[in-house]
Amino acid sequence: MRPETIAKLCCPFDKADLELTTTGKDLEGNVLEGFFECTECKRIYPIMKGVPIMNPDEYREFHLEQPMLEAYGAHVNKQIGANFKFEDTSSHQIEK
Ligand SMILES: [Zn+2]
Repeated sequence: MRPETIAKLCCPFDKADLELTTTGKDLEGNVLEGFFECTECKRIYPIMKGVPIMNPDEYREFHLEQPMLEAYGAHVNKQIGANFKFEDTSSHQIEK
């Protein structure tokens, strides 16, 4: 995905801006792997093989995305919750 394409994207729910975290690029600087975080609703949208996955929640399967979302969370020292959003782990304890 080209950087100029990324700049045109917004959250499908609230049309808010997205914050990009890149975990992989090709030699031309295109984003291959990474994720968007909505600045408003805080949903996480993965980018896989250069394609952003921006489906509404009801068309996403959390258990399929969970390993990838957890890897992203580890990248930014956050923990993914069951609603495609990072949890604020400083304000509550994760039950085991
Ligand atoms: Zn949003």
